[in-house]
Amino acid sequence: MPAKGSGVQTAADLQARCDVNEVTDCWHWTGALSDGHPRMWIWDHRYGKTRVVSGPRGAALIGGLAMHKGWRAWMTCGCKTCVNPEHVETGTTKQWGAWCRQAGVMKNNPRRRAAVRRRWAEESPENFAIAKAVRESAETGLALAARFNKSPQTISKMRNSVSWAPLVTVFSGLGAR
Ligand SMILES: [Zn+2]
Repeated sequence: MPAKGSGVQTAADLQARCDVNEVTDCWHWTGALSDGHPRMWIWDHRYGKTRVVSGPRGAALIGGLAMHKGWRAWMTCGCKTCVNPEHVETGTTKQWGAWCRQAGVMKNNPRRRAAVRRRWAEESPENFAIAKAVRESAETGLALAARFNKSPQTISKMRNSVSWAPLVTVFSGLGAR
């Protein structure tokens, strides 16, 4: 076993380093952050040593969740600084994606939306340019459909697509780490 003081080893150690929200039961990490996300020294039994991991990974370790090679860990409460082992989930990237879709967080994630826009701009620059014009125009959907030779449905999609909504940062902390 590691020497005393060599990082988080138990759930009690972990909780002692957090502010616990009595309403949500989220354990808000009060230790070091990296880019707004918890980083912790933790005893990792799989490696047989103390090492630095992200908050969700630390919570998964303490919670005894499976964490295979290439797996991700994410907080199901959607909280950036929570490390409550009961709020963490682990799985493959595919499982994480499924959870995100179910939770509806990905479509609100500005990094994801920016990536979607970039890919769209590269793959279909002509439609991208039209979509940009549609978003910026005050004309009716029918007028734009006629002008760009697109269906009114396509124009409506371009106008309302969440990928084009203003990039806010509310959900930016929800990615798996
Ligand atoms: Zn939480």
